[in-house]
Amino acid sequence: MMIRTYKYRLFTNKRQREALDFILWQQRILYNAALEQRKTVYEATGKGVSYVEQWAHFRDVRNANPDTFGMVNATSLQQLLRRVDKAYRAFFRRLKAGETPGYPRFKGRNRFHSMEFKHGDGVKLYQNDRGQVRLRIQNVGHVKVKYHRDLPADSRIKHVVIKRSLGNWYVTLMVEFESLPYPPLTGEGVGIDVGLKSLLALSDGTLVDNPRWLRNSLKRLRVLNRKLARQKKGSTNWRQTAARLARLHGKIANQRRDFWHKTTRQLVNQYDLICIENLTLGFMTANRHLALSAHDAGLGEFRSLLAYKAEEAGKQVALVPPQYTSQLCSECGTMVAKSLNVRVHQCAACGLELDRDVNAARNILTLGLSVCDLTLALAGVLQEARHFSGESSHE
Ligand SMILES: [Zn+2]
Repeated sequence: MMIRTYKYRLFTNKRQREALDFILWQQRILYNAALEQRKTVYEATGKGVSYVEQWAHFRDVRNANPDTFGMVNATSLQQLLRRVDKAYRAFFRRLKAGETPGYPRFKGRNRFHSMEFKHGDGVKLYQNDRGQVRLRIQNVGHVKVKYHRDLPADSRIKHVVIKRSLGNWYVTLMVEFESLPYPPLTGEGVGIDVGLKSLLALSDGTLVDNPRWLRNSLKRLRVLNRKLARQKKGSTNWRQTAARLARLHGKIANQRRDFWHKTTRQLVNQYDLICIENLTLGFMTANRHLALSAHDAGLGEFRSLLAYKAEEAGKQVALVPPQYTSQLCSECGTMVAKSLNVRVHQCAACGLELDRDVNAARNILTLGLSVCDLTLALAGVLQEARHFSGESSHE
């Protein structure tokens, strides 16, 4: 079993921000009150107050003030009291050891930034039916999450910390999952050309396309879009179609994510070195065809998943400059100029005849090998690198 933490930025609206500020403020008051109670009792009787006693007391305080302390989730309050308990235990431990520790600090406004939750109790991470990731926070609402990185497959979120930092809000998820064994090294590399005729063309000749179920959804999307355009804007039918479209968008986003997960997993399992073109946004928009398919296929998602999975598996992704990869002959290096509608690479110099995208993929592999200055015989280097990329915290 492995534990990792994942941190995400939250995008709050004004109302959510105010609610979070308010709850954090209530938590701070409760924290200081719990500390105060311990101090008072200790000074009066020489005895401590246990966590259980404090919980009984502050539970009542919370219930008696629904508009203020009542906004704090009950389990979150328990976590808070455990923090007080921990601070106190540490204090007494040091006292016993003959040290002179400072009394646990009361927290000023600038010293109290976070609140803790148990996942599923007052806080829940979920995907809405449009495929967007949200964090539902009790008494705050459904907050947008900048979900830049997926959680490991089959992971369970245990502990949640919501934190304010420099005016922004973040969530840190402590996640438990079965540790994934590294895939074995294969000594193989691959070049990948993206996004014209096929979704992906591999240097070994494989062409990867959208799976049928995704193509069907995309077809349905086009049908619904046409239907919507015909209907009177704002009418009941129009609204119905719009709602169906929104649901379908969510479904497609999920299907696509799922497909890219599987594809990148396979690539990382099969190859030690994966070379792709370093396509900037500018380059993609300059090539209208590519821009369209890039948008349609979620190629950005493909690239980030690939990079992330490769890193996790201790394998390499090489980014190569995109110039001329489709024009050069991958066999002899002769320039064979061709426009976008020419599908086959035919070299007059050496006689090579190949799918144009596969030819490009082979060039990309060659470039990748030179760019990263790494021959596959150096697989041992990768092996070694793995020792440094083992258990780590991902932000
Ligand atoms: Zn040639």
